[in-house]
Amino acid sequence: MRADPAAQMRLLDLQALDTRLGQLAHRRRSVPQVAELSGLASRAGVLRDRDVAVRTLVSDLERELARAEGDVAAVRARIARDQRLLEGGTVGSAKQLTDLQHEVESLRNRVSALEDAELEVMERLEEAQARVAEVAGEVEALQAQQSAAERGRDEAFADVDAEVARVEGERVRVLADLPGDLLALYDRIRADAGGVGAAALHRGRCQGCQLTLTPADLGRIRGEAADAVVRCEECRRILVRTPESGL
Ligand SMILES: [Zn+2]
Repeated sequence: MRADPAAQMRLLDLQALDTRLGQLAHRRRSVPQVAELSGLASRAGVLRDRDVAVRTLVSDLERELARAEGDVAAVRARIARDQRLLEGGTVGSAKQLTDLQHEVESLRNRVSALEDAELEVMERLEEAQARVAEVAGEVEALQAQQSAAERGRDEAFADVDAEVARVEGERVRVLADLPGDLLALYDRIRADAGGVGAAALHRGRCQGCQLTLTPADLGRIRGEAADAVVRCEECRRILVRTPESGL
C-alpha cells in the first residue's frame, strides 16, 4: 500500500485521538460513583426487606394486642356479671355464694395475668414501631446518599462527555485528511491489536510494541519509498516514519 507521507503522519494524530477516546471511555466506566451507586442499590434492597419484616411484625403484634384486650374485656365482663349476682341478693344458698366469691377471686387473678401479657405485647409493639421508624430513617439517609452520588456521577459523566465531543470533533477533521484504504487498514489492525493501529518508528524502535527493530529491518525500511506504508515485523502495526525515526 502507498500513502502520502503527510497522510501517514496524520495517522499518528488519529491514533492519539483514538487512544484518548479509549482513555475517556475507561474514565467514564470507572467514575467512582458508579460503583458507589451499585453498593447503595444493594443496601437499599436489604433495607426494603427489613422494612417489610418490621412492618409485618407491627401488624402481627397489633392483632395480638387486640386479642389480649379482648381477653381482658371478656374476663372483666364475667367479673361484673358475678358481682351483680353477688349484690343482687338472688343467690340463695351459702355454698353458691362462696363458689361465686371464689370464682370472682380467681377471675381477678386471671385478669391480672392477662393484663401482664397485654402489657408485654404493648412493649413489643412499641419496640417494633420504633424499628419501623428507624428503618424509615435509614431509607431516607440512603436516598440522600444516592441522590448525592447520582449528582456526582452525572457531573463526572458531563465532564467526560464534553471532552469526548471535543476529541470526536477533532477526529472528524483528521479523518478528512486520510485516504480511505489507509484508514481501512488502520481500523482493521486497531481492532486486532488492542486499539493501536499505527505507531511511530522512534529511534529505531516501534512505539506500538516497544521492540527495537533489527538492523536488517531498519535497512529494509530505509530502502522503502517515502510513500510506502511500512508495517512492524513484530506487531504488524503501521509504522510511521518521522524525522526522529533514526533511519
Ligand atoms: Zn511493533
